[in-house]
Amino acid sequence: MTAKSIIRIDSAPPRHWVGDGFHVHSMFSYNQDAHLYSPFLMLDYGAPYLCEPRDVASGATPRGVGSHPHRGFETVTIAYSGEVAHRDSSGGGGIIGVGDVQWMTAGSGLVHDEFHSPAFSQAGGMMHMVQLWVNLPAKDKMTKPGYQAIKNNDIPKAAIPEATVDGASVRIIAGNHSGQSLAGSIITKGAASTFTPMNVWDVRIHAGQTVSLPQPEGWTTLLLVQSGKVTANNGKAAGAAQLVMLSRSGTEVSITAFEDTQLLLLAGEPINEPVVGYGPFVMNTRQEILQAVEDFNAGKFGQI
Ligand code: MN
Repeated sequence: MTAKSIIRIDSAPPRHWVGDGFHVHSMFSYNQDAHLYSPFLMLDYGAPYLCEPRDVASGATPRGVGSHPHRGFETVTIAYSGEVAHRDSSGGGGIIGVGDVQWMTAGSGLVHDEFHSPAFSQAGGMMHMVQLWVNLPAKDKMTKPGYQAIKNNDIPKAAIPEATVDGASVRIIAGNHSGQSLAGSIITKGAASTFTPMNVWDVRIHAGQTVSLPQPEGWTTLLLVQSGKVTANNGKAAGAAQLVMLSRSGTEVSITAFEDTQLLLLAGEPINEPVVGYGPFVMNTRQEILQAVEDFNAGKFGQI
């Protein structure tokens, strides 16, 4: 197996506010080098932060992001600590709790809001979350909106030899993990269904352990280190709030933890189509963006 090499390691830029409730590092966005990150469009990282109630509520009102539209892609919200409440124009809504994932397909368009949950905004506490934007191929951009509410307990753990000594765990949010046991090869299927092939894995590795997590040849491969310190394929070490980009060529991804580490592995087959975006709309042409703005202004995205 040829090892994927490290292309770059980026540290988190300063935090910025999304709405008045989510203080995140934008690790990448489609405004810059979109082709390098495809099929992923954006990664907002809410690094662990101990919130006082005043950080997450304004008086009795939870802080967050009020009603806003999306079209042409998917938003994936992963809550590691804290809770996010959401409502959308299809009538759906709920709470994304600790360990849960919401995989929302904006498709042809919806309107939603995202706030800290009432309970969390009253009590405060540790907030740690990720919002990932995943592109849709042109043929699916106008698909019917919907979402997959994935509970912590519904996310399967991969069969990896390292896990038998409690050295590591890999939660398969999306994609397929191919592992080995005494009984032979075991495929673990991820909880979320996706439009294009990708792996979204929540990886924990204990200090001193090495885990092999091969990714397909040609795929974009990224590691968001959330805590700890690791090296991928014996390259330069990366620590908390750093994003490692590996080469598309090669398949081996061998990760050694120097400290207890948590990281998010994102890998996907690039979508080789033009990316033209304007804020919450990401399409293939400028004409489609103008159409999205027009449709939203005409109320065609519905309301909450
Ligand atoms: Mn949103």
